[in-house]
Amino acid sequence: MSEKMHSGAHPMPTVDRAAASRAAVAARQARAELKRKLRSGEITPLRVLEQSLVPSSAAATLRITDFLLSFPAIGEVKADRVRRELEISEKKRLGGLGKLQRDRLTDFVRDRMGVADQGARPPLTVLAGPTAVGKGTVVSYIREHFPEVRLSVSATTRDPRPGEVDGSHYYFVDEERFDRMLASGDLLEWATVHNKYRYGTPRGPVVESAERGELMLLEIDLQGARQVRASMPEAKLVFLAPPSWDELVNRLVGRGTEDEEERARRLETAKVELAAAEEFDEIIVNDEVPRAAEQLLAVMRGERNASA
Ligand code: 5GP
Repeated sequence: MSEKMHSGAHPMPTVDRAAASRAAVAARQARAELKRKLRSGEITPLRVLEQSLVPSSAAATLRITDFLLSFPAIGEVKADRVRRELEISEKKRLGGLGKLQRDRLTDFVRDRMGVADQGARPPLTVLAGPTAVGKGTVVSYIREHFPEVRLSVSATTRDPRPGEVDGSHYYFVDEERFDRMLASGDLLEWATVHNKYRYGTPRGPVVESAERGELMLLEIDLQGARQVRASMPEAKLVFLAPPSWDELVNRLVGRGTEDEEERARRLETAKVELAAAEEFDEIIVNDEVPRAAEQLLAVMRGERNASA
């Protein structure tokens, strides 16, 4: 890998010069907008640090000095001192920070912002939970009652069900298309669900939404939730839990259409899935859909945190 790539610059051998300079202008504008939002408080420094993990985002290309200067009461002299204390060179951009530099900077930001920032809006919220807990119903309720929430539209290799609209419920793609999305890094996370079809979250809309400070919700399975945790630690993971084990069993096998073996298999899966709850930031009990949806919205707005 060349030195140039290490510093975060992207070689563009096949792009013509006019296109490259248009891209550079657009990137500068995006950075200017980000700085404005930071100064005005529309976006928190922790969120910007989080976003900077996403390659080539505006946050990733923000210089450390510009980042520090956006804090209230930090001028050039102080920014320079803090930067040296954190052992980050002047040329660094947020996306190019080493792990230890990032940790030191995150600690600095947390100290500086105090508790006020701790419950800040997450860049995105993931809703997961055991099969048959009613995630789909909660999401439909949100779609209808909270139009300000942006729902991530996943790509899937399964066929549409009656009433499902391509581009709205899912992007219905074939196996080759899914392979291409994977190969080009277009998916933030993906999983094979129920050993059958592949599902994945397109990265672009999620990054865009985070940059705009929108409320973004991903309804995905547990494997996907774990991948989001690993790649975006500031994301909020919400586990939708059944009111009780018995209730989940009812919802799973209540229709009585499965044979004994299938019932046993489903119950076993449900046990494993329920045990994952402790990995999540929040647990919301789906006893009444409107109440569960309200609680989810409170989490998304940063009004509720793990201790609440
Ligand atoms: P369905 O086929 O019934 O719409 O969804 C089946 C399962 O796939 C659900 O548990 C849902 O949460 C999960 N799922 C939907 N989209 C995604 C995605 O983009 N990524 C992952 N990991 N799971 C998804």
